[in-house]
Amino acid sequence: MTDRDRAASCQGPYGVEGDPGDCGDPVRFEVSRHRRTPLRVCPVHLGPALLLAEGVLWPPGISLIR
Ligand SMILES: [Zn+2]
Repeated sequence: MTDRDRAASCQGPYGVEGDPGDCGDPVRFEVSRHRRTPLRVCPVHLGPALLLAEGVLWPPGISLIR
């Protein structure tokens, strides 16, 4: 339950490990990453996540999840 709640909240600004974001907005997109867990972000943080998160594939793999 707790994991599911956390997964439903944006990890923005851009999901840096050890420095989780406090955005908390509902997740809309999942960004695939190389050998890392996918990053789940809201629309506002999709751009920053693509450009700044570690391990983002290029071209990016983005899934609309809700
Ligand atoms: Zn966000």
